[in-house]
Amino acid sequence: MLQDGFGRRFAYLRLSVTDVCNFRCEYCLPNGYQGKPTGFLNVEEIRRLVAGFAEMGTTKVRLTGGEPMVRKDFMEIVEVVRNTPGIEKLAMTTNGYKLRETATDLKAAGVDAINISIDSLESGRFEEITGDRRFDKVYESIDSCLEQQFDSVKVNTVLLKGLNDHELPKFFEYVRTRPVALRFIELMQTGDNQEYFEKRHVSGDVVREQLLREGWQRVERGPVDGPAVEYSHPDHIGRIGLIAPYAPGFCDTCNRLRVTARGGLRLCLFGRGSQDLRPFLQRDEDREQLKACLLTALLGKKVSHSLHQGDFGDTPHLAYTGG
Ligand code: SAM
Ligand code: SF4
Repeated sequence: MLQDGFGRRFAYLRLSVTDVCNFRCEYCLPNGYQGKPTGFLNVEEIRRLVAGFAEMGTTKVRLTGGEPMVRKDFMEIVEVVRNTPGIEKLAMTTNGYKLRETATDLKAAGVDAINISIDSLESGRFEEITGDRRFDKVYESIDSCLEQQFDSVKVNTVLLKGLNDHELPKFFEYVRTRPVALRFIELMQTGDNQEYFEKRHVSGDVVREQLLREGWQRVERGPVDGPAVEYSHPDHIGRIGLIAPYAPGFCDTCNRLRVTARGGLRLCLFGRGSQDLRPFLQRDEDREQLKACLLTALLGKKVSHSLHQGDFGDTPHLAYTGG
């Protein structure tokens, strides 16, 4: 079992399959993708990687990016991960640009859980934040996923001062009749967005206080759940969640590791450097070396991030690390 020096166990792998994205979210890739779209792990490398993690106790994999669905072989990746012995839950995070027409295929291929990012319920505001005009398509894709009855459909919304914080009542109303968990993510500071962060960061406390005032109650977390603290309300079918990395104790329940699209193991979203796993992904015979490398690397995992000391690591933006 993958375990760090503080007794935390890691059964959840977040695997980025590309750092390319077709959106231009202001806080992530405001000028669009500027990198070199080459060198991403191929399907065979992904197969070996996930098999190694699964043999070390990983039961849940989330495919992310960049925008994972821009990969032409995305369905092949889904298939390979799905067929890895030991992987019980396959999740993905997407900006939703091509989900409406692919939800049926994803469900058939064995995706269990989908997170869709939508930062505003107003199309003009959505376009302003993401640089993309496909609000209707993304919005409707949430209902397409609900129709397919995935185990879970979640919505990610980055809280942005002056841009969407006035929409809180609308978001609460949205989950009144829909069985989705809508999670507000506190804007995180990265290398490229420091000015934006100063201008737009809102503390998750604002949402938490409003939820408690309106009678929402905190729900217990499961062992492979993500970092959101979720709240339910008797009048609402859906839930509201809060992902607040600046809140005290956020790292205590850390249960996930990240691998970048080029095979770098990242121990923390806000950490520095990565362990190159690619050399161990070229032959099935190297599986034991891969596992030994994971165990050793984990000993270097710190007890918590250092955001409060002003150190947000070396992530330029979340598309790079896999958010
Ligand atoms: N492209 C996909 C998407 O947008 O859902 C997957 C990758 S994206 C990096 C994953 C999540 O991270 C999205 O919900 C996005 O809004 C969020 N995100 C990106 N940059 C962020 C930041 N600086 N602070 C907080 N959340 C961020
Ligand atoms: Fe793309 Fe997701 Fe970053 Fe937006 S948050 S630019 S959709 S990777």
